[in-house]
Amino acid sequence: MAILLTGGMGFIGSHTAVELIKEGYEVIIADNLSNSSKKVLERIETITGVKPLFYEIDVAVKEDVMKVFEENEVQGVVHFAGYKSVPESTRIPLAYYRNNLDTALSVLEVMKEKNCKTFVFSSSATVYGDKNKAPFNEEMPTSTSTNAYGNTKLMIEQIVRDFAASWEELSAILLRYFNPIGAHPSGLIGEAPDGIPNNLMPYITQTAVGVREYLGVFGTDYDTPDGTGVRDFIHVVDLARGHVAAINYALKTQGVEAINLGTGKGNSVLEVVSTFEKANDLKIPVKLLPRRPGDIATSFALADKAKKLLGWKAELTLFDMCKDSWNWQKNNPKGYED
Ligand code: NAD
Ligand code: UDP
Repeated sequence: MAILLTGGMGFIGSHTAVELIKEGYEVIIADNLSNSSKKVLERIETITGVKPLFYEIDVAVKEDVMKVFEENEVQGVVHFAGYKSVPESTRIPLAYYRNNLDTALSVLEVMKEKNCKTFVFSSSATVYGDKNKAPFNEEMPTSTSTNAYGNTKLMIEQIVRDFAASWEELSAILLRYFNPIGAHPSGLIGEAPDGIPNNLMPYITQTAVGVREYLGVFGTDYDTPDGTGVRDFIHVVDLARGHVAAINYALKTQGVEAINLGTGKGNSVLEVVSTFEKANDLKIPVKLLPRRPGDIATSFALADKAKKLLGWKAELTLFDMCKDSWNWQKNNPKGYED
């Protein structure tokens, strides 16, 4: 009996593979390597002593997903596969709808046909939109977004709810991630963005390693303690453990639950920069810039539901996140490239 991780070679999937293996689960990864490297597999093996079975397939192709189910006993699926760049999704929205919706649909169709009843989905805090006030809780209304990426998350949440309404035995968890950063403390796996990073932490680490000249801080006039944006940064290892807890729970239950994975605490962009500087004894040159279109001032989770239902809460600090992000970047200045 195995847990299938679609997109399991990526940033969050690879950390989840490690934590699931540590808990004794057999892990299978299906990934087309569109945003990841095959080297991840051997790194997972170095950390855990186990090399997961790997299928290099496009998860949007149902027949290929079916093959994985026919060759293995899949107990549950964690569905990470998808495109994730907000700005890219505004440039090529159809590619985002095509890939993110088709991958989800083919996985759900195969699960139904093969009677696999446990599904965990990588959703996002972006579904809370710009009208709710933080802390965001799972009962708040969700809303469409100004970008196609966010809309695919909202649509897939709805698809899963409709599907669950038609199939009582399904157990589905919609995990709404806040801002995952950090890396495995071994420095062997981490976030390896292609090209110029959009997200804060990879931009900071690339500035520290000298690939970028300075960090642009987007917006200093928000209604926040220091005027810069506030986010709920969560260590990717904590997030990965949240998936183990979600799988443990989903294997025993039925129905759909949306659950936040966050720390419950917000930190500003400038707090992240100063913690990074302290944790690593480095200086990050910054340039204060205007707001980035589409950003909200403050986002952080109410993390009580995850504690109550899954018995999970984030343990690692912003200091840990900054240390581990830098440890990964300095050991792998070009990500997984040689
Ligand atoms: P990632 O890009 O590192 O991982 C996604 C993986 O999916 C990659 O390895 C990629 O090759 C694979 N993939 C994409 N399309 C595929 C396809 N058609 N068939 C097979 N494999 C495919 O991203 P991540 O940061 O690990 O995020 C994982 C999931 O979590 C994504 O769905 C993302 O939208 C979601 N999420 C991420 C964040 C974040 O900040 N990283 C926040 C909220 C939600
Ligand atoms: N940010 C920044 N400079 C960057 C990247 C991000 O100031 O180069 C800010 C951004 O405006 C937001 C916060 O950092 O306030 C987190 O942004 P990120 O893109 O990492 O995540 P988001 O919450 O937007 O998904």
